[in-house]
Formats: sequence, C-alpha cells, structure tokens
Amino acid sequence: LVNKPEVVVFSVPSYACQRRTTLENQNTTLTDALSLLAENAELSNEDGRGVAFRRAAAVLKVLPSAVQSMSQLTGLPCLGEHSLRVIKDILENGASNEVESTKKSEKYKALKVLTGIFGVGAKTAARWIREGIHNLCQLRESGHTLNRAQQAGLEHYDDINQSVTKTEAEVIQEMVEKAVASVLPGAQVVLTGGFRRGKMSGHDVDFLITHPEEGREVGLMPKVVSWLEAQDFLLYQKTTRNSYLESKEGPGRPPSNMDRFERCLSIFKLHSVENQAAVQDVTKRVEGEQRSDEQTRPWRAVRVDLVVSPFSQFAFALLGWTGSKLFERELRRWAGYEKAMCLSSHALYDNKQRKYLRASSEEDIFAHLGLEYIPPSERNA
Ligand code: ATP
Ligand code: MN
Ligand code: MN
Repeated sequence: LVNKPEVVVFSVPSYACQRRTTLENQNTTLTDALSLLAENAELSNEDGRGVAFRRAAAVLKVLPSAVQSMSQLTGLPCLGEHSLRVIKDILENGASNEVESTKKSEKYKALKVLTGIFGVGAKTAARWIREGIHNLCQLRESGHTLNRAQQAGLEHYDDINQSVTKTEAEVIQEMVEKAVASVLPGAQVVLTGGFRRGKMSGHDVDFLITHPEEGREVGLMPKVVSWLEAQDFLLYQKTTRNSYLESKEGPGRPPSNMDRFERCLSIFKLHSVENQAAVQDVTKRVEGEQRSDEQTRPWRAVRVDLVVSPFSQFAFALLGWTGSKLFERELRRWAGYEKAMCLSSHALYDNKQRKYLRASSEEDIFAHLGLEYIPPSERNA
C-alpha cells in the first residue's frame, strides 16, 4: 500500500493463493457486478471469460477500502479491459448497462432457473432453452425424461434453492458424525467447503471423511449411506466409487479439476427443531393445518456432499475441498506455472525432481509450494 496525498493506490499480488481474502469486502457493488457477469459466462459455457471476471472480482475483494476512482486501480493485476469498463461504468453512472441488461435478459433468467435444478448443468439448460423451455412449468410439460438426480432436483427445487444456514450445517454434521461412528469407529469427519471458510450460509454442506489407519476407509461410503437410509435421513443419493488407482492420468496430470475420491452427492431430509416443536404444539398445528402441506411438513431438503479420502491423501483432499473454487484454481495455476508442480486433491507432483511430495497437513502443502500459509477463513477469493 502506497499512500499519496489524496488517492490510495492499491497493490495486490497476482495469484489469489498469495493473498488473504476474508469475508469482509469493501467493494460489494463492484464484486457483485463482476460475479454476475462471471456467472453468466459460466452458465453460457464460456469458462475463460468466467474465470477472467472471477479473478477481477477477487482482486477487488482484498482492497482495504472502497474504490473511488479508476486511477486507484493502476497497476493492479487481473483487471482486463472488459472488467475495467464495467468498474468505470459503475463508478461514473452508479450502474453498468451490461450487468443490468444481463440480469433482465430472458436467457440469463432461464439459465438460472433451469440450472437451479440439482443435476442440471449449463449444457443441458442451454439445450432446453433452444427448445423453448424457459421455466419449470414448461419443463414439466415438455415430456422430457429426467434422470434420477434431476427428478429429485425438481421435486425439492424450493428447498434446495434456499440457502443452508450454519446451524443447519451443524445439525447435518451431527447426523453424518453419528452415521460414520456407527459404521466405522475411529473414522474422522471434517466439515469442508464454504462453512470451513467461515461462511454463515451455503448452497450445500460438504464433508470429508477419513480413517487414520490407511485402508480402513475402503468401502466406507455404502455403509454410511445404508445407515443414513435406515434412519430415513436421505431423499436422494448417488455414490461414485474411488477410481484414482485405475485412472490413466499419470504422475500429476489429472485431466480436470474433478477428483477421483469415493463420493456421495446427496439430498438430506433435515428435520428442523422448530418445525418439530410446531408439530407437537397443538395451537400451532391447528394454525398450520390451514396452510399448505409444503409449509407444515416438519423437514426440509438439503444438498450434502460426502467425500472419503485415504489418510495419506487427506491433506490434499482437505485443501482441495475447502475452496473457494477460485482459490483452488489459483493454487493449481501457481503450482504449474511458478513451481513446475502439479497439484490435485490427491497429490502434489514435482516435475523437476520427478517425484511426489508428501504432506500430512495443509501447512506442508503451502510450504512445498513456496507459499505463505493461508488459513481457511482467508481463502474466500
Ligand atoms: P457453497 O457455500 O456455495 O457450497 P462452496 O465453496 O462450499 O460454496 P462447493 O461447490 O460446495 O462450494 O465446493 C466446495 C469445494 O469442493 C470447492 O473447493 C470445489 O473446488 C470442491 N469440489 C466441488 N466439486 C468437486 C468435484 N467434483 N471434484 C473435486 N472438487 C470438487
Ligand atoms: Mn459447499
Ligand atoms: Mn459441494
């Protein structure tokens, strides 16, 4: 930070993994605008543009005060011509035409609604839109055969699109811990994703499960799922087995960001404490009977991701599943471009030494990468 008489000129390192990004943000108007354009690009299958807007927004998130003028941005990394134009519009006119017209566009609105269905990605949504399907009604009437995930997604649409609170995440954590302890004593459960970064709400709840004795975690997920199903805690689940060893990726060259851990994408049936009380409370129940079933049912659907990692890969899995997505992407970019290493959620490979680097903690991985350790609460890029 260099102080000049009137304007503060900011200075920011170029990779998000070199920066400390807390949830505090002095430039929400600007970052919301750029994030919307990023989202629109991602939903339109323009990932390159999406990342560019995400990187620009992430730079603004770490500035210690609100941007007042374009001159303050001189020399900042990741601010391309397009992002600067959007920022300039907002600083000068209070809003960006591009952002406002995107928000209102039929295509953006349809993409949001359709990808809001669990199991529907940008490609499927784009295909449906080309067929004239813009909303859930039109989708239901279209006669399209939906897969099991999409059927569950449509059925629990409102619940899943309502964000999950920290309190709800804690209740789910107790359920998962109980399930895991019942089927494999000694196994460990860690809350990952946005909640580990200190967020107060999220779109789902993410967990990483491991056992300190390598090998004991094999076959764990089906047992956890059976236990949860027996308790009637699951509305939907799809388990994918671990395919790391059979993958032909070769040392440190995973094909994508997708990892190969045993995982379970699920929808939990969460009985809420307040609703349970309401069901038992006669007065509230009479009141409730006049409302729709939807409002009085004593549970809600919540998206939950479960991942099982062998203990030897746990640090990499924890780092990879804590996010944010941009922070992860930047870590891998830093590893590749600056260190000639390849980082995944399974391992870190050093291309120069031609060997895998071991790590038993996230701190070890940052050290291997020559980066200052950034705690989860400061990975909110
Ligand atoms: P939110 O609050 O919206 O859930 P989040 O940061 O928890 O935000 P998620 O989409 O739940 O976002 O992802 C959490 C982390 O898991 C991210 O770091 C992401 O990179 C990682 N992740 C998600 N899906 C996969 C996948 N299929 N393969 C590997 N990593 C994944
Ligand atoms: Mn999450
Ligand atoms: Mn998730």
